[in-house]
Amino acid sequence: METNGIKTGYCPGEHRCMECGEPLGEYGRSDRKFCSPHCKDGYNNRKRHYLRGVRMRVETALSRNHSILERLLEEGRTSAQLADLVQMGFKTDYVSSFRKAGGRDVVWCYDIKYVLTPTKVMRIERLSSVL
Ligand SMILES: [Zn+2]
Repeated sequence: METNGIKTGYCPGEHRCMECGEPLGEYGRSDRKFCSPHCKDGYNNRKRHYLRGVRMRVETALSRNHSILERLLEEGRTSAQLADLVQMGFKTDYVSSFRKAGGRDVVWCYDIKYVLTPTKVMRIERLSSVL
């Protein structure tokens, strides 16, 4: 299916290929999504590539956050101004776990836990004492 020259993908009612948008015709299974193995491979490769990119961006952001928090702990610090951390590349929207506790936002970055306020990261502590 094309809208303003852009293929909009699968539309079950019209039975068109999810990759190229061509009509699937009346042959084959009724739940067929692709007109050919080539289109199926192309779609799946693109999807896999996209998902790998998403995972890499999240992993990179989490890893950077963890390094920054770890550095603070090594310096004996348990809090920092959020603006300073953001300047260092810290991204508050990437966390490995989150919960509200006592009205505060408690955040985990892997094994490091902290309280996030609008202006500060505080009560930074490593949960495991293995290192
Ligand atoms: Zn196709």
